[in-house]
Amino acid sequence: MELSFGCRCGKLQGRLERVQPSRVNRVVCYCGFCQSYERYLQPQSPALDVNGGTELMQLSPADIHLMAGHDHLACLKLTEGGALRFYAKCCQTALMNTSQRSNLPFVSIPLSSIQGLDTDEKRQACLGPVRIRAFVPDTLKPALANGPKVHKGLGYLHLGRLLLSWFVQGAAKQSPLWQNGEPVCIPERVRVQRQN
Ligand SMILES: [Zn+2]
Ligand SMILES: [Zn+2]
Repeated sequence: MELSFGCRCGKLQGRLERVQPSRVNRVVCYCGFCQSYERYLQPQSPALDVNGGTELMQLSPADIHLMAGHDHLACLKLTEGGALRFYAKCCQTALMNTSQRSNLPFVSIPLSSIQGLDTDEKRQACLGPVRIRAFVPDTLKPALANGPKVHKGLGYLHLGRLLLSWFVQGAAKQSPLWQNGEPVCIPERVRVQRQN
């Protein structure tokens, strides 16, 4: 299946190809950096769920294509060795996170920037179930225990299999975020207050 993604104002647009539950990994991250990042970009309306989680899809860099608005792409990092966080500077929309290692074929896209995934039914059908909840704070564990069960071990196994197949396919070389071993935008180091 093909999905469109892009920024809130529509200047930066891209396409995600071959999306299906067996080819992507669906994650909710509750880490303080993801929360700080979203609140830094969108202080008025951060794209966080009721528990402060950021819902992400991890997919092969080879399946991401930027179609328009390349010059609006910007990049920041919150720690020296932390993730590179690409966003649209025209309207401060979080778009893609990746590792600082250009040979790691791995990109996470916040579901808030993907069109057509506004209900959980659509997310289930396109991406499958949430397979990993990352950095869940102890205070949240009782509330999340009432929701759908997530088997973390199986989730990491799924992700490991995907990463291996992306390595074998040489997907890192097809990433739209790297060129000749350098990120396509110079990452700006941004210091924010950690949320937890
Ligand atoms: Zn925009
Ligand atoms: Zn996170």
